[in-house]
Amino acid sequence: MYRLLFFILFLSVNLFGQENCIKIKLNLTHNEDYTFTYENARLILTGNGRNDTLRPNRELEFNMENLTKGDYQFRIIPNNSLDRTTEHYYKFHFDTPAQQKHPFEITYSPFCPYSIENKTCPVCCTEKHVIPVRYGLIAVIEKRDKNGNIINDDKKKFKAGGCVVSDCDPQWYCEQDDVKF
Ligand SMILES: [Zn+2]
Repeated sequence: MYRLLFFILFLSVNLFGQENCIKIKLNLTHNEDYTFTYENARLILTGNGRNDTLRPNRELEFNMENLTKGDYQFRIIPNNSLDRTTEHYYKFHFDTPAQQKHPFEITYSPFCPYSIENKTCPVCCTEKHVIPVRYGLIAVIEKRDKNGNIINDDKKKFKAGGCVVSDCDPQWYCEQDDVKF
C-alpha cells in the first residue's frame, strides 16, 4: 500500500536569465512554529540524478541550486499536510537557463492538524452529525430484517476516505456540513 498521497503541482518557471536555481519559501500557518520549522524542516529533492536533502535558511527558504534541464520532484518533511491540494509531492520541469524572480511559496505546518480525539465539527461546533472516516478496502455487511429491508445501524456509519493513506489524514466527517477534519 502507498504510504503517502501523491499530489502533484506543476510549477512554471520563467525561462529568462542565468541562474539555475529555484527558491521555495515556507509560509507558516502558525508563526509560533518558526523555530521548530527552521531547525527541522527539510526539502527532499529527487529526479534527474539528484537526491538532495536541503535545510532552510532563516527566511525559511530552500535553494535548489545547480539544476539542469529535466524533471524533478520534491517534498517537505515533516508532514506538509495542511494544504491538501498541494501536499507531499511537487513536480516541476526545469529548463535552462532559468531565473526566478520570487520564491515559490508553500503554506506549511510541521504538525498534523487532525486528531482522533477531536470529534467536534469545526463548522457547526457539535458532534451531532459527525461520523468516522475509514480508510482502506472496506467490506460492508448489510444487516437485513426478515422482509429483506436493510436495518440501519447508525453506529456502523462511516465516510469512506479512500485506499491511500498518509501519516496525517482526517479522522472525522460532518454529514451536515460536508467537511472532513
Ligand atoms: Zn458540522
